[in-house]
Amino acid sequence: MWRPISIDKYVKIHLKKNPDQKENVLRVRIEAAMDAYRNGLKCSCGKDIWIVGSASAPFGCFSCISGKKHPLGDYEIDSALEKRDKYGRRHIDEMDPGKINGIFDDDGYEINRELIKMQSLCLTCIKNNSEDFEDNILCDMNRSNQAGSNTFECHDYRKG
Ligand SMILES: [Zn+2]
Repeated sequence: MWRPISIDKYVKIHLKKNPDQKENVLRVRIEAAMDAYRNGLKCSCGKDIWIVGSASAPFGCFSCISGKKHPLGDYEIDSALEKRDKYGRRHIDEMDPGKINGIFDDDGYEINRELIKMQSLCLTCIKNNSEDFEDNILCDMNRSNQAGSNTFECHDYRKG
């Protein structure tokens, strides 16, 4: 998971650890990385860039700069936490820990609920029109899990 941090706080911490560096140079580098991120610049591997890492290294994503798969308490500027991979997907470990909701596949990637295919069976089910958030999520997860198969099964089907 990321540890979200403001630019001002990060600058303070970084300069404490690297007293020989200049604050204005560091800020210019962070701003340049933020601009690149906002303009959609991607790492050479296709992922969104990591601002904190890109302030001290050539622009790149977390994995390419750190060599690690996902952040584990690593800092990232709080306004740059909506990172996506080259397929436009978001991974649960690369989301703002305070804003995680929704559903995720077994690999940890967020499932876009709008893109889940509706099933004809569901259209005759009483739960399809349910206002209950839990019902909706369970139905979406079931449809999403069977997205690749030709048949559709539901053990919670209730004829409406
Ligand atoms: Zn990369």
